[in-house]
Amino acid sequence: MTDDCLFCRIIAGEIPSTEVYSDDVFYAFRDINPGAPTHVLVVPRKHIPKITAAEPADAALLGKLILTANKVAEQEGLCDKGFRYVINCDAWGGQMVFHLHLHILGGRKMDWPPG
Ligand code: AMP
Ligand code: ZN
Repeated sequence: MTDDCLFCRIIAGEIPSTEVYSDDVFYAFRDINPGAPTHVLVVPRKHIPKITAAEPADAALLGKLILTANKVAEQEGLCDKGFRYVINCDAWGGQMVFHLHLHILGGRKMDWPPG
């Protein structure tokens, strides 16, 4: 838990969120400013500031992040038509919250390349 981290505070229940999935390792909740009809953030409970800060010891966690997102995508009914995963990194990637998270975006057709 990092006190000045928004997502650590959401995970700790200090800031309200709409839970979609929870287990010992991950917490998933709805994005407050959705970019698609379905927009869920899957967040490891461990505070890793960004994807490039992950270490070899985090390899299993990173694998489970995708498997957990797959479970959430299924639960949200996105798997028939398809959806998109996004991990933003640093300024040019558009990262605003420096606690690793994976966006699940679905419910409409996505543009490519992204803007
Ligand atoms: P990123 O730009 O990848 O760091 O994404 C951060 C995301 O967190 C954005 O899509 C925001 O809309 C979302 N966000 C910010 N504050 C909250 C909050 N309190 N609850 C839910 N989502 C949030
Ligand atoms: Zn954090």
